[in-house]
Amino acid sequence: MQNERAIRSIVIVGGGTAGWMAAAALRSALGRGSSIQLIESAEIGIVGVGEATIPAIRQFNALIGLKEAAFMRQTKASLKLGIEFVGWGDAQSRYLHPFGVYGPHNDLGDFHQLYLMLRDKGLADDIGAYSLCGQAARRGRVAAPTVDPASPLSRFTSAYHFDAILYGRHLRRFSEQLGVKRLEGEVIDVTLRSEDGFLESLTLKDGQTVSADLFIDCTGFRGLLIEGALKTGYDDWSHWLPVDRAVAVPCERVGPITPYTTSTVREAGWQWRIPLQHRTGNGYVYSSRFTTEEIATRTLMDNLDGAPLAEPRHLRFVTGRRRKAWNRNVVALGLASGFLEPLESTSIHMVHSGLVKLLQHFPDREFSPVNIDTYNRRVSEEAQEVRDFIILHYHATTRRDSEFWAYVASMPIPDSLRDRIAIFRDRGMLVSRPDELFSQSSWLAVMLGQGVIPQSYNPLADRSDPQDTAASFAALQRQIAQLVETMPDHEAFLAQNNMLD
Ligand code: FAD
Repeated sequence: MQNERAIRSIVIVGGGTAGWMAAAALRSALGRGSSIQLIESAEIGIVGVGEATIPAIRQFNALIGLKEAAFMRQTKASLKLGIEFVGWGDAQSRYLHPFGVYGPHNDLGDFHQLYLMLRDKGLADDIGAYSLCGQAARRGRVAAPTVDPASPLSRFTSAYHFDAILYGRHLRRFSEQLGVKRLEGEVIDVTLRSEDGFLESLTLKDGQTVSADLFIDCTGFRGLLIEGALKTGYDDWSHWLPVDRAVAVPCERVGPITPYTTSTVREAGWQWRIPLQHRTGNGYVYSSRFTTEEIATRTLMDNLDGAPLAEPRHLRFVTGRRRKAWNRNVVALGLASGFLEPLESTSIHMVHSGLVKLLQHFPDREFSPVNIDTYNRRVSEEAQEVRDFIILHYHATTRRDSEFWAYVASMPIPDSLRDRIAIFRDRGMLVSRPDELFSQSSWLAVMLGQGVIPQSYNPLADRSDPQDTAASFAALQRQIAQLVETMPDHEAFLAQNNMLD
């Protein structure tokens, strides 16, 4: 039986990826106990460029009960095993940040310290040789994830590249079937309760008024409720992450569907390449302080695999976070809560993560301030960790061949990141919280990939015999290569599993 203070009605404003993810997750989790309405405006439209994800998307899809094959067909998805970074360390460098973790599926002690010990003695290969996802990505091979910890494939994990507009439609169909009511219309006014400033109701352009106990702001960069109505404030992080524009264009797919995203350095930023079943998504994320829209567009169009399939789209953003993702009875998700450039494909995940936390902190109509503060602290911690991880890519470059790269290599960085780099340089130590989004393997991939080389390693690693350890590493490398050999080719796997549209 429901408590009399229970939330009875929820209104989500915005029907982009964030809005429909919120609708699907809240409807699935809350059952029929509360009414859920979603308001979206076709006239305003959506951003619709989020095409690359990280493996946690599998948990989101499982949370709401999406069937993988149908979801992949309907969103024309491909599998993603990591991100290839081209030119990020120095102009010639090329490394992969693979999903999963380095090392064997069974124990090899403190793998990365042993690796650093062998590397120091010239007895180890590139770190990528010890990653199952990394080797599979390079060979264009994939597998189904397994939950069996005894299987060598337990170190294999994947995410998706998908058409974000189709994903939104898929989630919409799903949510409407579960009873989410969609209202088409533009919110033009917001009424606040006089006694406490909580949101009371929204007025649509056609004169309708909609009220609710809890409002979810998914209105994109404008943050109509969280900022427009509640003036929550925004922490601007563009001094650390100076890219502030993107130009995006899809092109014809040429050649096989690579199971990884590619990020290639350009003069004032970087270019993404995201392979889908029916086309390849491309975009140049750049800083308007260091290049012009015209040059950026030309650069992008000159660097496509195949013929463009549409006119280039231009997007503007300010990197940063809303000071509070949850203010009074409004929770902001997606671009309304802040934006970090898509270098590590984290935005859609932040929507997922915000929703999981919202369910953990689900309020009643008293809206306990301590509950809201704790939610905000957790959301903000995660955003700061992701921010630091992204800044690392820029900070650790050795490039100085354009004004932009000279600037990002020398710009001040947050203390939290400076400390992480310092202890890694000193003794190869990776310090992180256990539930951080990016695992130690991810930090290791980017540190070493960008050329941050530790001066030393944990002296306890010297207790292992170097020759024996080198033999175990060589055996691991052979085992990974043999396993990859047995894995199907990406497209063959999609076809066999009825995942191709
Ligand atoms: P939007 O898509 O902007 O949706 C806003 C919604 O609000 C729309 O439905 C609009 O109609 C509605 N709305 C606004 N105002 C009103 C109003 N007054 N009344 C009614 N409705 C209103 N993320 C990733 O995870 N991976 C990526 O690879 C990735 N790449 C990106 C590349 C770029 C260049 C950018 C800018 C973003 C990228 N993202 C990526 C982020 C991703 O696109 C977004 O996180 C995601 O699409 C969620 O957007 P949204 O739903 O918050 O906002």
